[in-house]
Amino acid sequence: MVFEKARAKINLTLDVLAKRPDGYHDVEMVMQSVDFCDYISLTPRLDNQIVIRANVPYIPTDERNLAYKAAHVLRMHMGIFRGVEIDIDKRIPVAAGLAGGSTDAAAVLRGLNHLWQLHLSLKELSQIGEEVGSDVPFCIYGGTAVVRGRGEIVEPVPIRPAFWVVLAKPPLAVSTAEIYGALDVSSVDLHPRANNMILALQSGDVQAVADAAGNVLEPVCFALYPETIRVKEQLVRLGSQVTLMSGSGPTVFGLFEREQRARRVYNTMRTTLKEVYLCQTC
Ligand code: ATP
Repeated sequence: MVFEKARAKINLTLDVLAKRPDGYHDVEMVMQSVDFCDYISLTPRLDNQIVIRANVPYIPTDERNLAYKAAHVLRMHMGIFRGVEIDIDKRIPVAAGLAGGSTDAAAVLRGLNHLWQLHLSLKELSQIGEEVGSDVPFCIYGGTAVVRGRGEIVEPVPIRPAFWVVLAKPPLAVSTAEIYGALDVSSVDLHPRANNMILALQSGDVQAVADAAGNVLEPVCFALYPETIRVKEQLVRLGSQVTLMSGSGPTVFGLFEREQRARRVYNTMRTTLKEVYLCQTC
């Protein structure tokens, strides 16, 4: 049996450069993993089936589950047909902008690499992950990375920002396709630069991180779901040092240098929102 942590991610920057003819968007973003996780366990089966079990009823347990897809794609690539039972202990909210499904898929790829002794490198796993979903290649690596293309070009950056993170999710599920669909790329006038964020992280200056943070999908989600604006305003009012929507939303995160301040904000946010989480960058 193999256990893997499936860490959520936040976007410190998210820029959309162009819509591609294949329907995907060319993006440039700084992604950061946090120690808020789903837990995946993999148990070999005697037959050749991929079986998914989950502790929650609201994610699919058939071939629509990204964890299933990951195991299937890996088997196809390697020409092996062993069975596996995948248990998902889901903690990360779904359709929240935290890559909940992609990180489960990445954890399955890493875990099966061990279980089946495939000796694939992270780069090889990440290339296989591309077929499963755009955020999977980053989730294979975790840490801090600049991500480009439609998500398949991952450049891990060897810095370890040490922020406390409050994740605050308004009570709605937002579809990534809906938000990208409503984005008019030609009307984006402020493009957050991944390079500026990396320099800011390297400098360790939280104000520089706040200045470099940006997500071009934020105004799109805010226009469609005004509840999201209120969550951001509340975090700012309470003293969040860097405040931004993650991915296509609706989760908004706040970054803090000090644990005590983060805990205070976490406790206050919990009085008005059900889905609030306290974690750290990792
Ligand atoms: P991203 O930040 O990558 O856009 P997200 O947090 O917005 O991701 P997910 O939580 O990955 O979105 O879920 C999106 C959809 O994927 C949901 O409709 C869900 O049913 C489906 N899904 C498939 N497999 C999983 C899984 N293992 N965990 C969560 N959702 C899954």
